[in-house]
Amino acid sequence: MKKFIPVASPFINHLEAKAVYRTIKSGWISMGRKVEEFEDRVCKYVGCKYAIGMNNGTSTLDALLTAMNITEQDEIIVPSLTYIASANVVQYKKAKLVLCDIDPATFNTNVEYIKKKITKKTKLIIVTDMKGMPVDYDSFTKLSKMYRIPIIGDSAESFGALYKGKKVGSQFLAHSFSFFANKNITTGEGGMILTNNLSLYKKLKIIRNQGQQGRYNHVVLGNNYRMTDIQATIGIEQLKKLNKILKSKERVAKNYFKKFHKMEGVLLPFIPTYVSQHSWYNFAIKVNSKIRNKLVNYLKKKGIETRMSFPCIHTQAYYVKKFKYKKNDFPNSSKTFDQLIDLPIWAGLSLKNQSFIVSSIKKFFNKN
Ligand SMILES: *Cc1c(COP(=O)(O)O)cnc(C)c1O
Repeated sequence: MKKFIPVASPFINHLEAKAVYRTIKSGWISMGRKVEEFEDRVCKYVGCKYAIGMNNGTSTLDALLTAMNITEQDEIIVPSLTYIASANVVQYKKAKLVLCDIDPATFNTNVEYIKKKITKKTKLIIVTDMKGMPVDYDSFTKLSKMYRIPIIGDSAESFGALYKGKKVGSQFLAHSFSFFANKNITTGEGGMILTNNLSLYKKLKIIRNQGQQGRYNHVVLGNNYRMTDIQATIGIEQLKKLNKILKSKERVAKNYFKKFHKMEGVLLPFIPTYVSQHSWYNFAIKVNSKIRNKLVNYLKKKGIETRMSFPCIHTQAYYVKKFKYKKNDFPNSSKTFDQLIDLPIWAGLSLKNQSFIVSSIKKFFNKN
């Protein structure tokens, strides 16, 4: 059989299957007690008051914008290097998307770039924890207070990460998480919002369930964003494994650091001191943009799957057509994207396979 090392792989087995079997046998498979249990467990794990489980991460962001009454008159600031969902939700509300550039060292945006984009119409700032590394929350919280503009965290990738010793999920007004198959824990498709704000929590529960307050009494324009008990059952089992998953990924990351430390041509990720624990959703290295695609193809031929990260929002066809963006409008984002490669990282990736990945990259650089 030909060798194949995937870029990500869910840490899932008979334990999830058995739990799902029990849920199915119980006769209740749509949103019910299991969703509540999963929400409670996540709250305890993160150290946050309220959680709202949903059908995917994109829904959580969309529901947050609904809860915050975002309209066509509002401007929302979003980093230009992020997953498409963070920008798309702004389009669903027909609000004005205001993109801002990122710091090439962290792949995250920072307050300096955001500040430049704030106007009287700025109603909300969405900040992404790229690759699973928290942004500098304290600096953003200060900014939020100073300008009285709420910030929500697109923390889809940073579940389990620690910022200054505290789990990601309670730093901003709300944090959005995804449990897609390649995230640190998965429910197949799934998402969750965490917040300490009671009124926001109450609104979100109504929005998640078709805007219903009491049966068939629809008080706001909601949607069907419900998580199923089947998803939640998988999530509960996954959550029990999260510390193990994080430890295993940390070991993989440390090993990459050790092996790439002195390799010419490979730039390792930079981790600021405020990050006490990276979630290692991705392990992204930077290489010369001129050889990036060649390296990706070289590794592919060896059975090593990699990813080129998300292309910038301002280079996506829909956005180019709508806003006439040029590639150089957000130069750090474009330049960073051109250099990035996500290497395989997942709980259970063997040292042997990791050595093969590293030696293949070394061979590539010796030849090129
Ligand atoms: C995964 C992800 C999402 C949400 O994804 P879904 O597939 O809708 O669960 C949002 N933002 C970022 C940055 C992501 O990585």
